[in-house]
Amino acid sequence: MKITRIFAHRVELPLVEGNYTWNRGNFVSVFDSTVVGVETDEGLIGYGEACPLGSCYLPAYADGVRAGLRELGPHLLGFDPRELGVLNQQMDASLAGHPYVKSAIDIACWDILGKATGLPVCVLMGGRFGDGVRLYRAISQLDPELMAENVAMYRDQGYTRFQLKVGGDPDTDIERIHAARAVLRPNDRLVADANCGWSQHEAMRVVQGVRDLDVYIEQPCLTYEESLSIRRNTNLPFIMDENIDSLAMLLRANRDQAMDVVNLKISKFGGLTKTKQARDLCVSLGLAMTIEDTWGSDITTAAIAHLAHSSPESLRFTSTDFNSYNTVSNASGAPQRQSGFMSAGDEPGLGVSPRLEVLGEVVWQCAIRNRISESSTPVSNIHQAKATSVANPASLAKAK
Ligand SMILES: [Mg+2]
Repeated sequence: MKITRIFAHRVELPLVEGNYTWNRGNFVSVFDSTVVGVETDEGLIGYGEACPLGSCYLPAYADGVRAGLRELGPHLLGFDPRELGVLNQQMDASLAGHPYVKSAIDIACWDILGKATGLPVCVLMGGRFGDGVRLYRAISQLDPELMAENVAMYRDQGYTRFQLKVGGDPDTDIERIHAARAVLRPNDRLVADANCGWSQHEAMRVVQGVRDLDVYIEQPCLTYEESLSIRRNTNLPFIMDENIDSLAMLLRANRDQAMDVVNLKISKFGGLTKTKQARDLCVSLGLAMTIEDTWGSDITTAAIAHLAHSSPESLRFTSTDFNSYNTVSNASGAPQRQSGFMSAGDEPGLGVSPRLEVLGEVVWQCAIRNRISESSTPVSNIHQAKATSVANPASLAKAK
């Protein structure tokens, strides 16, 4: 089986709440998601999705996904999408870094592997643990009383885990955390996620101000060293996220006892293959995980569900049902939240069917014709597309 075409759609994802606001006034009102299709010579098409959380959350941005695909895509034509180790090595050999560019291609190839074998991705990733994956709800940054109202509203919808977006003024953040905790039941879990927003002295002020509460602290400061210092000066349970973007950082942080839970985002590591490596390492280390992505819609939610559902329940802290945050659905068949849980589907692959009317026109593609070609021509004209660039001959030779 060979990859014969890779193509991309751009999909806007408006938010049910209108805005999603996190640290220092950063917000998004319409997410810009890229849906990637990988087509094979045997007629199978797999889909993946990559959607950065704006442009200043991680070193990633929405147009960067498409720019990266233009650079990387032609190097992957001719490779077998089922051979995910070979494919990932080729992606890393063709484009250094840029894990968020590679993520949707890798997810699409897992979708193909599932369709080719007739198995859901979660079975291919180790098997299904338990009935459902417990979800958290992210609470966009607002005034303290409004955030508490939203916590109560989402608790009434069945969520039992809540992630407050803090990382603003530390005194207001202390109020936010107190107000949210006050409306929760004792066994509900509350996380205060600063998304790197506090300087070290501000973070110390907050952890002192909430030291008697039942709350987890997530990624307080920008650098690993600053956050580690906060970790060593608080007794509150601690989560690391933005700084843990590789197996090397995961090993370093575990050696430093820098966290009780780690947040694994699929596009932060570069796809399901590499996030599964991190997941499996966490299982071996006995380290609990939040398994999710930066954002997305139904395709991302399905990918999260398959990775999370194939992870041992005892180490699953939370996951995210991103498809419930948006007003637009980009695929049918994706997991739907029920009482604060979701489940990976039973259909082969990711188990989703893209809504072509939502995806709209193809904004970029590369394909094998008589030779490797690239085109920005809409899909309706694909068979008339002329080659506009030729891939590196070396990668073409390797692809054979
Ligand atoms: Mg986080």
